[in-house]
Amino acid sequence: MDASKVKRFLLFLLLLVSAGGILDSADRSERWPTVRAEHLRSHPVCEACGRNLDLEVHHVTPFSNDPTKELDRTNLITLCHRDHLVFGHFGSYQKYNPQVQAHARQYRAWKLRWEMD
Ligand SMILES: [Zn+2]
Ligand SMILES: [Zn+2]
Repeated sequence: MDASKVKRFLLFLLLLVSAGGILDSADRSERWPTVRAEHLRSHPVCEACGRNLDLEVHHVTPFSNDPTKELDRTNLITLCHRDHLVFGHFGSYQKYNPQVQAHARQYRAWKLRWEMD
């Protein structure tokens, strides 16, 4: 690959990244960072494994399916990065788990029981 091709490729990547950023911030409510922070304060551990590592706030019904639920607190669940992908999205961010809250609760109960034995 010659230098101009590399340069064009890098420019292309930069374009992709910035386009994603613009789409994201244009669609997202400006109140989301506040609602997210409040949710993390009241739910400070992963609701599946109970750790407080790499926490993310997941939308049970995805923002793309129902934007009106973006700030709905009953639509939010705290998950660590690993469990976000596994429980929230069945291993792929193209999918989502409508029963993530029940599954996370079940897993947590099982995990606690194993740890006590
Ligand atoms: Zn977890
Ligand atoms: Zn998610």
